[in-house]
Amino acid sequence: MKTIIRILFLTIVALSQPALATTKTTVGTMRLDYFHTGNSKQEFFSVDEVVIEPHPWAGNPSQPIDNIPRGKYMFEVFDLKSGKLQYSRSFSSIYGEWEYTGEATRVNRTFHESLRFPAPTAKVRVVLKKRSYSESFKEIWRTEVDPTHMFVNTGKPQFDGEVFAVIENGDPAKKVDLLIMGDGYSKKESAKFHSDVKRLADALFATEPFKSRKQDFNVWAILPSSDISGISRPSTGVHKDTPLALRYDIFGSERYMLTFDNKSFREIASQAPYEFVEIVANGETYGGGGIYGLYGTTSSDNDWSEYVFIHEFGHHFAGLADEYYASPVAQAVVQDLAEPYEPNVTANTDKNTLKWKQFVKASMPIPTHWDKAEFDTYSNKYQKRRKEIRAQKLPESVMNDLFAANSRFQKELFSKNKYKNEVGLFEGANYAANGYYRSEQNCIMFTRDQNFCHVCSHAIEQIVDLYAR
Ligand SMILES: [Zn+2]
Repeated sequence: MKTIIRILFLTIVALSQPALATTKTTVGTMRLDYFHTGNSKQEFFSVDEVVIEPHPWAGNPSQPIDNIPRGKYMFEVFDLKSGKLQYSRSFSSIYGEWEYTGEATRVNRTFHESLRFPAPTAKVRVVLKKRSYSESFKEIWRTEVDPTHMFVNTGKPQFDGEVFAVIENGDPAKKVDLLIMGDGYSKKESAKFHSDVKRLADALFATEPFKSRKQDFNVWAILPSSDISGISRPSTGVHKDTPLALRYDIFGSERYMLTFDNKSFREIASQAPYEFVEIVANGETYGGGGIYGLYGTTSSDNDWSEYVFIHEFGHHFAGLADEYYASPVAQAVVQDLAEPYEPNVTANTDKNTLKWKQFVKASMPIPTHWDKAEFDTYSNKYQKRRKEIRAQKLPESVMNDLFAANSRFQKELFSKNKYKNEVGLFEGANYAANGYYRSEQNCIMFTRDQNFCHVCSHAIEQIVDLYAR
């Protein structure tokens, strides 16, 4: 892991400037860094440090309260004196996934996490809440932050690398600010990073609803300086000390790519204004990940990199659930078919209370027919072959060809259904073949087809509005 040396000016701001100015251009960005420790049965929180990031608050000053919570957690910032709610955001976390893995039943682990909010001028109480499927948020931790305390770290993290604008449409406070970060690019591969970023951003903004809402976005990019090319892939014995410590094999899933080094991630990211992040790993091996409010990841040079970039952004940006159910995943699957909080999957088969009922025609049969048996037969064979390709360490081109054949089969099968492109209730979603439903036959959250369904598109636009309206 890269340790970044921070220059500490501990007392200057804390003592000589008792209150930060409140005009939108000078509101600072506060970051509460903490450790989240526990196992499948209990969890603990402890503060690491409170930081003022180098860039002003990039969030939307007119919408400080999150009225469309999509994540497992919610944090709220209250003025300590008046008790008034100043800011809230829902999010999900790596810990929130890990606690459902088998490992969490055997050992404790600690994950570093961050909450970012407009820097307050007086003491605040930060309250963290958590929920399960079918349940409302319950408080799990609270702490107080004094913005004038001498240990509030206002030192600018040392940074060596490139920061540049990819798409600039206006004041970060009025736009969605997407930051694309590179990991596993050596200094010699800087030009490649520039072209990878452009290609991936172009693919995102060629896809609806991002295409129509492009003016609401700024896109920034950061490439920390490194001598290392490629990232860690422990299942093939590859370990690399890259600046963001991005790696494959998260929770034992070979294609799952995240970083656990949140401190380095946050310190590097703080070099640009941002609300959302995609990390691009330099390499051709298929993989990615996406966590609501944290970041999305993809590799740069796979045949399916653009698809992964957009699919994972769906998780990260809009809190969308996976609509697929055939691929193996690291987390235990929810068995009791509780109603999910994600907007694009459901266990509810009642047309009158269905969460996407406003998009369903009166004549639509619920549940809605699709050729599931034929799809499942093909998928079983495909998943078996996919596993063999990894076990035999065959070239990535073999995997790419398998994926392409799978897509051709799906396209052909789906084209025969009279309910193609209609909103209804299609069985199979959220990692469950039965009992969970998606809203359309196909969607980028279901297959590698590069289109969002109506329900996902609507959910994405709601988040764009939260940051750019
Ligand atoms: Zn969808």
